Order: sequence, then C-alpha cells, then structure tokens
Amino acid sequence: MARKKYFCLHAHFYQPARGNPITGEIGPEPLAAPFRNWNERITDECYRPNAELGNLNVISFNFGETLLAWMEQHHPDVYEMILDADRRNQAEHGVGNALAMPMHHTILPLARRRDKRTQVAWGKAAFEARFGRAPEGIWLPEMAVDLETLSVLHEQGFKFTIVSGGQVASRYDPERDGAGPFWVALPGDARIAVFVRHEKLSTDLAFGIEHLGGAGHWARHVLTPHRKKAGPLTMAAVDGETFGHHHQGEHHFLRWLMTHEAAGAGYEVTSLARYLQAHPPTRDIKLKERTAWSCFHGLARWATGCACTEGYSGWKGALRRALDRLACEIDHTYAGHIGALGVDPWTLRDGYIGVVLRRERGADYLARMGLNLDAAAQQHVLDMLAAQYHAQVMYSSCGFFFEDFARPEPSYAIANAACAADLMQRATGMDLTGGFRADLAVVVSGKNGANGMQAYDEIVTERALSPEAG
Ligand SMILES: [Zn+2]
Repeated sequence: MARKKYFCLHAHFYQPARGNPITGEIGPEPLAAPFRNWNERITDECYRPNAELGNLNVISFNFGETLLAWMEQHHPDVYEMILDADRRNQAEHGVGNALAMPMHHTILPLARRRDKRTQVAWGKAAFEARFGRAPEGIWLPEMAVDLETLSVLHEQGFKFTIVSGGQVASRYDPERDGAGPFWVALPGDARIAVFVRHEKLSTDLAFGIEHLGGAGHWARHVLTPHRKKAGPLTMAAVDGETFGHHHQGEHHFLRWLMTHEAAGAGYEVTSLARYLQAHPPTRDIKLKERTAWSCFHGLARWATGCACTEGYSGWKGALRRALDRLACEIDHTYAGHIGALGVDPWTLRDGYIGVVLRRERGADYLARMGLNLDAAAQQHVLDMLAAQYHAQVMYSSCGFFFEDFARPEPSYAIANAACAADLMQRATGMDLTGGFRADLAVVVSGKNGANGMQAYDEIVTERALSPEAG
C-alpha cells in the first residue's frame, strides 16, 4: 500500500500596528472606504467570512497579538470564533492548531538577544492569556531566522517554527523531502523542530489564487501529480489575508480545498502541531541564517534597504540607526535605575506583559517583584517600563517593510519612539530627544523629500494639541 500523504495549510494573519500609539485607536483611513479603516474592511472581507465558514478549524494559523487585541474590542464575535477554532482542534485531536507570534512583528535576527527574549516571552504570555494554553509552535515575523532566535524559542519551551524552502542550506528537495519536520541543531546540544513550506505551491496561492481555476481544478491538476513524487507532508504557508482580502472571495477556495479537494487529491488534511505529535523529525537540516521569506537580500529589506522595494531605500538604515541610538540611551538609563533597586531590569521587563494585557495592576506587579516603593517612585518605574514597551513597538517590521519613508508605518515607529523618550523624561528628568531628533534629520523620503525630523516635530505638535495629552 502506498504511504499516506498529508497536506497542511498555515495562514499568518496580521495587520501593521498604526494610529495613536497611546490609545491604540487606528482612526479613519479614507482609502479603506466604505469602511472606516483597513482593519474594519479586512475583517469584513477576510477574517469574518473565514471564521464563519469554519476555515480556521481546518488549517494551522496564527494571529498577530496587536490584531487580536483590536479584534477583541471591535469584533468580539469574530474573536471568539478564532479562539473556538483552536479549542475544537484540542477537543477533536488532542492538540490545538493556533501558533503564537512574537509580540510586535519584530525582525528578531536584527534584535539583541535580550530583545528577542522579551518579544518571544511577551508573545507567549499573550497567547496563553487568550487561548488558555501553552503554545507549542510560533510564527517568526517574515520567517526571519537565525540560530540565536531559534535558541530563544527553545529556551522558552517552543517545539517548532516554520521556514521557507529557500532558507534551507542543506541538500534539500522540496518535493521528496517535503515539509519535514526536521531538526535544527542549536548551541548547547539543544535542537528545535522546523517545518519547511513549499515555495511554489505557496506562491501560487498567495499571488495567483484567482488564476488557479478553483480549488477542485488546482487539486486535480497540481496537488494530485505532486502527491506522487511528494514526501509525507506537503505544507503551504501564506498570509491569511490571501483568502478574501488580497483576492476577493477566495475564502471559498480555502474552504473547498481543505474540506473536500485535498482529500480528493489523496491527502489527509492535518495541522502542524498534530502532525509533529505523530511524526517527530528524523533528520537534521541546516538553515541559511539571517534570511526571511520576503527579501532576496538576507534581511536588507529591514536593515539597510534593498531592491525588494522600489525607489530610494537608504532611509531604512538611517531610521534604524536613529532608533538604535535612542534604544541604547533608554536602556542604559533604565538598567541603571532598576539595577539600583536590586532587581534584574530585563526580568522585570519580561514580566511586565501581564500589566500590558491588563491581567495585573502595575502596582501589584511591582510589589510581587519585591519592589516596595512609595507612590512617586512606583510611578517612575511604571513609566520606564511603559517606555520599554514603546521602544519595542518602534521596531515592528512594518516600519521598514515598504518602499518610502513618507508612509504611516515609519511615522508610527517615530511616534512610539517619541512616547518612549517622553516617558523616560517624566521618570528620570533626562531629555533624550535632542540626539534622536538630529539623527532623524537624515531619514529622508525619496518621493517628497520629507525627513524624519519634520515627521517627529509634527507628531510632537499634534500630541500637544490633542485632548489626551499628558
Ligand atoms: Zn531584499
């Protein structure tokens, strides 16, 4: 008898954080008309119909934490259906189908080790608070990977993550070897399981789903012949917005594929966690470090700029330099103050997520960590922790992803940086804005010549005029 073949589709659902960094309000986005903003429109086109069709029950998925927080507030019924899909999988298969994600869609290989730890710890805690269980797998933003990131995942108890075929450095045949999972060896005799997505199948779905002739046609003409030469598991991984938003109406493609056509093509549909449980890795692979699924130049798209985005991309390196210098100053000041209180500043930061998620009051958290301070000193510590939070948000990959500086996402990074600097000033009296503002002057748009210093001044002026100021 022929060996059984499995098919899994993983969908990554995410929207760039933007709008007001203090209140979290996105505000109106006229291009999203007739909806108030893009989150509303994409919920209507994609999140809601996929949830209502039951698609989330039959795929493997992850949602960005900032998107889930928005969904919980604005569309609690859709939010509940997302959580329910994972619960149903647990009930039916003994294991959930949702994966965690680092808190802020940060390109982790570009982050310092302690920032990697914080992003992963916060993402894990947020997942646990929402899904009510420990996550087994985690999605890496843009599939950006290096061994230090994988070590941090392993340290925090994660069993697996996902990469793309092009990121495998070992001899690897996308057909015969399939999705794995494979072991990746880590320093200190550790290892972590990695699933490998099929690039061609994933790209066909992500960029051309409406030209595939429907799920039945694609299954018969592509998945059936693929099965004959394929390894045991075939996995496609794409942005979840493919199904209904990037391609209108294609949530029906996903439904037919996963509930009928994949089986018709001879596959058993599975989720990543379920497959791993029954089929642990049997061989090792090596990965190309500092690569991602959406840049052909290592991580240059988010670091120095590259040909992945059109036009002048030199602003990216300049923006990162400005943020890095500010982050160093903030961290130095923060670590000095907190260290003097006899507490490890980075442990304190990792645990602060409970306060962010409103699971715990700030004062209670500090007391639990052994910091018995008077009210004023307590507020200073909480302000510094809030500064750390905004300094994490400012590294969201969206700030560097697109082609030009004069877009909302880079401004959002600067707005968060301004918040962080403000909070540090309130807590310590130190003004860190002078150097930051000067660094931003060389962050220049290739389209309209606007620079980061102007953007910063606008943000600060707007904030002074807004009713929430102070
Ligand atoms: Zn690139």
